[in-house]
Amino acid sequence: MKVREPLPIRRTAPTKSPKEGKWAKHKPDLCQDFHSHCGYCGSYDGYRHTWYEVDHFIPKSLLDGKISNVEYSNLVYSCKFCNNTKLAKWPTNDINIPNHNDQGFVDPCNEDYDNHLYRTNDGSIMWKTDLGKWMWEIAFKFDERNYAIKLLWEVNQIRKIILKYAKELSKMNIHSEEYKLVHTKAGDLSFKYVLVHNELMNHYNSL
Ligand SMILES: [Zn+2]
Repeated sequence: MKVREPLPIRRTAPTKSPKEGKWAKHKPDLCQDFHSHCGYCGSYDGYRHTWYEVDHFIPKSLLDGKISNVEYSNLVYSCKFCNNTKLAKWPTNDINIPNHNDQGFVDPCNEDYDNHLYRTNDGSIMWKTDLGKWMWEIAFKFDERNYAIKLLWEVNQIRKIILKYAKELSKMNIHSEEYKLVHTKAGDLSFKYVLVHNELMNHYNSL
């Protein structure tokens, strides 16, 4: 599976034209373009403790006036964990070269991101290439964050299925057998959702 589904795509004409330093103004556009998921780890932004931030793909400290710090094409909708782990890492030290010799980054809006990292069936993130391994281990510490990443993925999968059932139910005759069947499935899944969500919150509270 892919880490992010679907692939985030930045709009070419952002809604706002903020002044230097006010990159947070782009957050609503980024949230939409990244489908409410972190560009790097693909986690959904709807849970407590996963405060979402605006990351500069090329770190702010390297921009040096060559690229504006509000330049939309350099911004990533990112969970605080990815943003705070990535920080100002940029091994090439050259803003024009995102990666070299299997170290550095791939823009999360580039399909190539998925050639380096993937998601396993249980929701973990794994690497496919040495560059992917560098991002996995050094840039984002996906290995150390695996437990939370898996729980976030699972609870989000359940959420999406429950919403799909809700949509189906809204179109059905409430007295039909089909309705009862789907309603029972949705109920069982909602029970599971609360348990997985609770596990996730306990984990965050223990950090
Ligand atoms: Zn993330």
